[in-house]
Amino acid sequence: MPKPRTPESDWRWQMRHRIRSAAELLARFPGLRAQAAGLGRAAARFPLAITPYYAALIRRAADTDPIFRLAIPQAAELCGPPHLAADPLDEERHTPVPGLIRRYPDRELILATTTCATYCRHCDRQRLAGAREAALTPAALRRIVAWLRRHPEVREVIVSGGDPLTLPDAALARILGAIRAVPHVAVVRLGTRAPATLPQRITPGLVRMLRHHQPLWIITQFNHPRELTPAAREALARLADAGFPLGNQAVLLRGVNDSAVVLEELFHGLVRNRVRPYYLFQCELIRGGEHFRVPIRHGLEIMDRLRGRLGGLALPTYVLDTPAAGKIPLTAGTVVGTAGRRTTLRSAAGLRVEYPEPD
Ligand SMILES: *Cc1c(COP(=O)(O)O)cnc(C)c1O
Repeated sequence: MPKPRTPESDWRWQMRHRIRSAAELLARFPGLRAQAAGLGRAAARFPLAITPYYAALIRRAADTDPIFRLAIPQAAELCGPPHLAADPLDEERHTPVPGLIRRYPDRELILATTTCATYCRHCDRQRLAGAREAALTPAALRRIVAWLRRHPEVREVIVSGGDPLTLPDAALARILGAIRAVPHVAVVRLGTRAPATLPQRITPGLVRMLRHHQPLWIITQFNHPRELTPAAREALARLADAGFPLGNQAVLLRGVNDSAVVLEELFHGLVRNRVRPYYLFQCELIRGGEHFRVPIRHGLEIMDRLRGRLGGLALPTYVLDTPAAGKIPLTAGTVVGTAGRRTTLRSAAGLRVEYPEPD
């Protein structure tokens, strides 16, 4: 049954009515007036944008609210130790052609736009996202495609940003079509947070357009179970019904999801909605992100607890992305040691198990 169309159910309305300034934020959440100075300075350092839809998910205007913490600038962003950086993964140096990041020989990442519906305060592309909202130009796209044609070892292209789903259908179709025209690119992956922050974007028209570009994997970013609203679940169902394999990349964030209980609910909720939890990222060494960081030791304890409670389908790989070596899986040693022909293993609950090796 078609739902009544309200202005709020149109994604363009959501984009046009984003909260974009500290003044608008204070008007929406008067309780924040006491923190106005810090908030204003944080918003000047890394711009803010919040869709009305996402702002409505905030229950308490306080940094103890996970959704608030993900999207609202805070004074804590203004200080940080010197090991934090504007480009923690050194992506600028891994840019052989503008708009393309090459960290692996067979899969490249394209920055389709610098715009997001809602800017995540933990974003590791703060140097690009939000400052000047701009899409990849036709000339830049042509140069990227020419580069791809010269590199037959590339099998996969990840269309990211910014959020590619902030582009109109026709602009995104042009980018996907140009990539698809490169014969050796077998797989396209779309990275988007729209199902979480702008679910209205997943229209039947968008889905119809995307279907022309299979095999297309869609990787979302849900960080908290409260983001899995009825609207978000409907958006995910549309994508799954259209046949796109869905994965999720979450970021482990202090005060947002750094507990086994919260992550269990998130990962289980994703599987229920046909999304496979793919990665759980250790928070990058991003400038302004110190208050989000969780010690790796604590992350490993959480993963051990989750391994005891969730099936393999619901359990992502916990990874640290590094400038020098790419993604490194983080696991608390499950293979403890080898003595003679016996290998000793450690279960999530800490139980030791012996495995006799073959001759
Ligand atoms: C993460 C990432 C990839 C893809 O890595 P996977 O392990 O295949 O998900 C590719 N390029 C860049 C720049 C990345 O950050």
